[in-house]
Amino acid sequence: MKTIIIGGVAAGMSAASKLKRLDPKRDIVVYEKGHDLSYGACGMPYFLSNIIEKEASLVARTKDQFEASGITVKTGHEVIGIFPKEKTITFKNETSEGVDHYDDLIIATGASPVHIPVNNHTLKGIYPLNSLRDAVTLKEVLKDAKNVAIIGAGFIGMEVAENMIHMGKTVHMIELSNQVLAPYDKVYADKAQKILEEAGVLIHLEEGLQGYQGEGHVTSVVTDKKTYSVDVVIEAVGVKPNTAFLKDSGLSMIPNGAYPHQLLKDPAFVPLGTHANKLGRVIAERLCGNLELAFQGVIGSNILKVMDYTVAKTGLTMKDNERLSLNLAYVDVTAKDHAGYYPGATPIDIRLVYDKDSKVIKGAQMVGLKGVANRINIMATVISQKMTASDLAGLDLAYSPPFQPVWDPLQVAANQIK
Ligand SMILES: Cc1cc2nc3c(=O)[nH]c(=O)nc-3n(C[C@H](O)[C@H](O)[C@H](O)COP(=O)(O)OP(=O)(O)OC[C@H]3O[C@@H](n4cnc5c(N)ncnc54)[C@H](O)[C@@H]3O)c2cc1C
Repeated sequence: MKTIIIGGVAAGMSAASKLKRLDPKRDIVVYEKGHDLSYGACGMPYFLSNIIEKEASLVARTKDQFEASGITVKTGHEVIGIFPKEKTITFKNETSEGVDHYDDLIIATGASPVHIPVNNHTLKGIYPLNSLRDAVTLKEVLKDAKNVAIIGAGFIGMEVAENMIHMGKTVHMIELSNQVLAPYDKVYADKAQKILEEAGVLIHLEEGLQGYQGEGHVTSVVTDKKTYSVDVVIEAVGVKPNTAFLKDSGLSMIPNGAYPHQLLKDPAFVPLGTHANKLGRVIAERLCGNLELAFQGVIGSNILKVMDYTVAKTGLTMKDNERLSLNLAYVDVTAKDHAGYYPGATPIDIRLVYDKDSKVIKGAQMVGLKGVANRINIMATVISQKMTASDLAGLDLAYSPPFQPVWDPLQVAANQIK
């Protein structure tokens, strides 16, 4: 039995490793068009500023380690076509083209950064941050850069902005919409924006990128409002699925490469590492006959560090409510992360979103210095389990003064809903 896997990062290598453990005799061949495997892209913003010093620290397992476990890895091999009827793929590398045969095929080709074709977009000095090669290149060019522009105020843009501040750069962040972090309610996004601005990031909302200027190398970014002098531009305006090579394969595809959403009727495009890893494992289990296991879908959980703060969300927002008329309401509370009389307590801002009639909790957003990460994951569980405000208020959460108040901030919010 032979499985070909296309793509050698989070989803592909999770699938390869799990398959080999479940079925050691299976022949597994991974085709990866780049040269890096199984790396943690999520750590790359921190690699730029040297918080993570070594490139090798981002790599979970090397090609040699995979091959020692019996997985064949063909780096520098791009798959250019698949032929499901014949069960073959075609590939090319630097010197030749070829055909390979499979019994099972896993497509784990991830996504590529969107590059906006504005004026002079081919100038040198404009980079994405999507692959480990991008991160290594950027780290080098940033050494001589003073002024950095980041296009896009999503997760990657925000994380990169923080790290540019750690590196002492002047940072301009340009964002088309009227808020940073599009999936959040504006009032929570504004909190994250304020933290970055207080750290020195110059955030320009409602400015559309028009083009770049420079002779060979970018020297300024032009928006519909202003021109900013820059040495380096980092574009972070989203990604699109790497599925163009499947165009003539006859496979049926969801239009935007989206996942099922547990709380919404339509699938959602939420391309995160947590899903890639889980899906890789699920696919391997299913190929080995464990058909009871399925990917549960997404609910829109995410978390990011913004300077000393943690910003996180899960489930639905009031923005979703406005867009889709979902009969949702919300409460906002601010409460200390642990007992006020124990030193070091700090406030957490919490928004819980709930169904007006049933009081089932549908979403949560939080900003705070401490105690956000564990609470957002409690809320992801609460929402996945369709718990009501009463269920949450009555949960037997552990209590001790150094860790949390006797009424956890989540339960304070739940009590307000009741
Ligand atoms: C800067 C940054 C920070 C991030 N932070 C987080 C985070 O904090 N939390 C989180 O959950 N997610 C985060 N993510 C997202 C996460 O890294 C991605 O969702 C994850 O890498 C997706 O894994 P993947 O295996 O599906 O795809 P990818 O990592 O994109 O890998 C796909 C691989 O397939 C290869 N490939 C594509 N086409 C072909 C072909 N035709 N033939 C052969 N090979 C091909 C590509 O070269 C690539 O190496 C971050 C991403 C970035 C860039």
